[in-house]
Amino acid sequence: MRVVLTVGRYFRRHFGSRVRKIPISLQGFTCPNIDGSVAKGGCIYCENESFSPSLIKISKASPVKMNFSLTHNPLLPKQLEQLKEQFAWHSNFHNEKFGIGKYLVYFQSYTNTYAPFDTLKALYDCALGLPNVVGLSIGTRIDCVGDELLDLLGSYVKLGKEIWLEYGIQSVYNKTLEITNRGHGIEGAQELFSKTRQHGIKVCAHIIYGLPGEDESMMLHTLDSVIAWGIDGIKIHPMYVIAGTRLAQMFRAGEYTPIKLETFSDLIVQSLKKIPPSVVVQRISAGAHDETLLAPKWCFDKNIQMRYIRDKLREEGIEY
Ligand code: SF4
Repeated sequence: MRVVLTVGRYFRRHFGSRVRKIPISLQGFTCPNIDGSVAKGGCIYCENESFSPSLIKISKASPVKMNFSLTHNPLLPKQLEQLKEQFAWHSNFHNEKFGIGKYLVYFQSYTNTYAPFDTLKALYDCALGLPNVVGLSIGTRIDCVGDELLDLLGSYVKLGKEIWLEYGIQSVYNKTLEITNRGHGIEGAQELFSKTRQHGIKVCAHIIYGLPGEDESMMLHTLDSVIAWGIDGIKIHPMYVIAGTRLAQMFRAGEYTPIKLETFSDLIVQSLKKIPPSVVVQRISAGAHDETLLAPKWCFDKNIQMRYIRDKLREEGIEY
């Protein structure tokens, strides 16, 4: 039986104990694909609160935007307060309930490198100074990471911190990125992965199976491509439709057919056979457990989803 290097196994191997990623969502953060800098309306599937609804409740984050023309970010004190508050809540919970005592601060919602440099540095410095924090994981886009930021993150690596950049790639096909209103093409992604890793920063690629206009060979080609570029981790999501998005309109108009669970599971089996054993497989499922989920319905219950996928994997001699 081949045992996949999940994030839990990786942390235990690397740190000698369990480590919990603490998701953080801060007021004022947005995305250049939402605020009109590169496009308007965001990716056609984006309804960002669906990624982290509990965080929004905890932080009471509102859509107040930072003004990037200012050198002084007036929201920074509030953001630092929210960071500490959310970290304290989650770390206490995981410590009391599961006895976990080490944490990676995960800047998750929107684009977490899209802010004035001083703001990013203040937030990352603060996060790394919180009790028992061993590193950061930062979700972003390939058009929002520059040399100054890589140098900063690389300086944390030199201090012994574990730093991950989680790049939303989704597909390597520019046609798909255009259909999904991604706001950037795939050019430069390979070089960015390489440059990121040269700084000692770990790269996690996010890809999606079931994007509009893609067949299975295209999905697997995206996987093959990011593996060839060089990655340390990967997250594979099924595409699901959330109410209020452009994808929901396409779905209701019969212009989009969601991926079936059987197809997704078969793709995951094929994918795990391709992914090198040293790459951390951070996620192979996704969904929304509330009424905002329109389709596919199998994305409603993550446990049922994972049970089905795990059974398929075991039939192929793979333990996830
Ligand atoms: S890049 Fe992320 S946050 Fe920005 S619009 Fe797309 S899904 Fe939403």
